[in-house]
Amino acid sequence: MAANEPIKSTDAAPIPTSDNSGRRGFLRSGVRGALLVAFGAVTSLLARNSQRERTVWQIDPQKCISCTNCATACVLTPSAVKCVQAYRMCGYCKLCTGYFEPEPNGLNAGAENQVCPTGAIKRTALEDPYYEYTIDEPLCIGCAKCVVGCVMFGNGSFFLQIRHDRCVNCNECNIAITCPAEAISRVPASQPYRLKSREHSA
Ligand code: SF4
Ligand code: SF4
Ligand code: SF4
Repeated sequence: MAANEPIKSTDAAPIPTSDNSGRRGFLRSGVRGALLVAFGAVTSLLARNSQRERTVWQIDPQKCISCTNCATACVLTPSAVKCVQAYRMCGYCKLCTGYFEPEPNGLNAGAENQVCPTGAIKRTALEDPYYEYTIDEPLCIGCAKCVVGCVMFGNGSFFLQIRHDRCVNCNECNIAITCPAEAISRVPASQPYRLKSREHSA
């Protein structure tokens, strides 16, 4: 190549110039290389961190044995654990054993007839003889009494779950520490709520 010929962009190797051909040029390119390596390391670290997804605490309804810890061990009052109704499992029974005391005075909504200590379960008449049972979540304290009743004589459609919109996501969940069934663990935040299913309960 002639000295006055322009440098083409297709020329592969960097062409030494009077500025970088000596010791100064060597040092400059060395510093530039080190900066590129550092930049690459930071970029891959950021990428790795963004891949590490946030996690939340969840109950595995298949493991839960319905002790009373969820109502009392949570750092929040009332507990971040609430009862959930798995409608597809519910028998819509007239005599719901998750709703009524074992020997109720009558099959009506009298407080003395209900299992729930806070009146958090609403009973609505559908077509005779079916009734729908829904949870008034703010009233629920997560005591699991309805879960026990429903599992014992009914279809087991009531279950407990830690609600994402209430839980403050403690570093160590106080309920998980005391849970006798080791039913509470961290799951990816994008994972749907763990539900109760007939297949798992069979
Ligand atoms: S502490 Fe564990 S076993 Fe007891 S009610 Fe809560 S999740 Fe279920
Ligand atoms: S019995 Fe306990 S867990 Fe069930 S709805 Fe009432 S407060 Fe909630
Ligand atoms: S992580 Fe904290 S706020 Fe959430 S359920 Fe456990 S103890 Fe309650």
